[in-house]
Amino acid sequence: RDSVASRGLGDVYKRQRCGAVLHQALSSLQPGAAVPERMRVALIAHDGKKASMVSFVMKRLEFFNREEVDIVTTGTTGTLILEAGITKVQRVHSGPLGGDAEIAAMVTRGEVQGVVFFRDPLDKHPHEPDVQMLMRLCDVHEVPLATNYIAGHILIEHFGKFGVPVRDGK
Ligand code: PGA
Repeated sequence: RDSVASRGLGDVYKRQRCGAVLHQALSSLQPGAAVPERMRVALIAHDGKKASMVSFVMKRLEFFNREEVDIVTTGTTGTLILEAGITKVQRVHSGPLGGDAEIAAMVTRGEVQGVVFFRDPLDKHPHEPDVQMLMRLCDVHEVPLATNYIAGHILIEHFGKFGVPVRDGK
């Protein structure tokens, strides 16, 4: 009986020790203070998601208009975003005319640190091969890619607080 009881206490002790070690390990992973660093974020929205993108941007103007943040967009998305209140936008071609491919090339050259691409999964797109290419190259170069509103929220939240993420770091 005693030995069972002491084994029980031992387990509790071990669990506490494990908890302390895990806590320590996790604390060392906590990001430090935000350091402003230049970053370029690509914003793209399929037609069915453009209204959603405009509203997304309007709620995050503080981030998008920061001095150290550059924005690149596909053609029509860019026009709408300028109206939403972003002051500086670099526009490439419209998606169907090669805009996604242009942004994919920028990702490949290391010129884009994050992509928010509100895809419309319920519609067909003539430039689907370019969309696939962009997504593939984001994975090849480990550039974070958010393809819906909530994922975009998480991405921008992270960029805004901690800057450009690095693997296993902040
Ligand atoms: P758009 O392109 O912003 O020019 O509409 C986006 C897309 O359809 O990929």
